[in-house]
Amino acid sequence: MKVPLLDLKEQYKTIKKEILETAEELFESQYFILGPRVASLEKEIADYCFSKHAVGVSSGTDALLISLMAMDIGVKDTVITTPYTFFATAGSIARTGARPIFVDIDPKTYNISPECLESAIDSMSRTELERLKAVIPVHLYGQCADMAPILQICEKYDLVIIEDAAQAIGSEYRGKRAGSMGDFGCFSFFPSKNLGAFGDGGMVTTNSDDFYDKLCTLRAHGSHPKYYHKLIGGNFRLDAFQAAVVSIKLKYLDQWTEARQKNAKNYRALFKHADLEDVVQLPFEKEDRHIYNQFVIRVKERRDDLRGFLNDSGIGTEVYYPVPMHLQACFSDLNYKKGDFPQAEHAALHTVALPIYPELSDDQIEYVVENIKAFYLKKK
Ligand SMILES: *Cc1c(COP(=O)(O)O)cnc(C)c1O
Repeated sequence: MKVPLLDLKEQYKTIKKEILETAEELFESQYFILGPRVASLEKEIADYCFSKHAVGVSSGTDALLISLMAMDIGVKDTVITTPYTFFATAGSIARTGARPIFVDIDPKTYNISPECLESAIDSMSRTELERLKAVIPVHLYGQCADMAPILQICEKYDLVIIEDAAQAIGSEYRGKRAGSMGDFGCFSFFPSKNLGAFGDGGMVTTNSDDFYDKLCTLRAHGSHPKYYHKLIGGNFRLDAFQAAVVSIKLKYLDQWTEARQKNAKNYRALFKHADLEDVVQLPFEKEDRHIYNQFVIRVKERRDDLRGFLNDSGIGTEVYYPVPMHLQACFSDLNYKKGDFPQAEHAALHTVALPIYPELSDDQIEYVVENIKAFYLKKK
């Protein structure tokens, strides 16, 4: 049996007719950049995320970058984030000229630890505090970071919050949706996200009218009106075609999310039955809405051998992420070292993502668990 980590072709079959009809209309119109399709998607995403505004941008990475730019964050500033995330979170901080500061994660959820955040800020000198401008919590794998204490700390120190919600569209924390709790919410429509385009795309949500205006100006080279540049922006525009695809897919997102949640439940029941508690730690689930962009387990031993074994059985897996940000070569000038963030380092060595996409069958899930069991039962 083949169980790929993700199979987008299955999903495409179900929406192919709609996509092709819309594509034909759009190609006939030859209207490709921003425009009415982007505007209507922005309204739909703002509503879906319980936010006042949304601004379509070129990618999730650019969503982060433009949010930092909207706050004039740059050289001499610092921004706190998690070391256990996709590169773009830390990369966009560095691209503004600011310095990323990492704090360790909560080993249960893999999200930034509010305790570590607080103690890092508490131990800062006065000058360090003056340089600190923002915090970027990441809602990793589709589950919100513990936002209540994070909001509290950021309010106390007057820090901007940019939520990296690239993996978490529709995920909830105490009734609030990812991207609506901080000053900015950054979303990605990279094809492998729960709501993926047919290429790159992203969105920034905000509840502030002022930030909204500034984001709109920045995404079109900072010009307003056209050819009059009051800010130095960039080309961060979303294509009409990507907006049209995302808009069609958005109608099915809740249904797909429910299928992911059902698959997660299925895994939990099967793992329980497989008696693997000693070696396999399942994803921690709070009562809040988890959208399972990934189903990531932590294994006690032989993670890489397990991946090889599963691969030989036709099962796709991935490690998100094998090298925490503080140990990346490009950040060596930040002077972090191995051992600085033990939880992030442990997770990088012991976690593995299993297939969870909505179209997965019960048989496929059973096959994955059976194979993991077979691997740990066999002699070393
Ligand atoms: C995917 C992702 C991004 C970047 O999004 P792109 O659209 O690929 O630029 C940023 N942060 C996280 C946590 C992501 O998973």
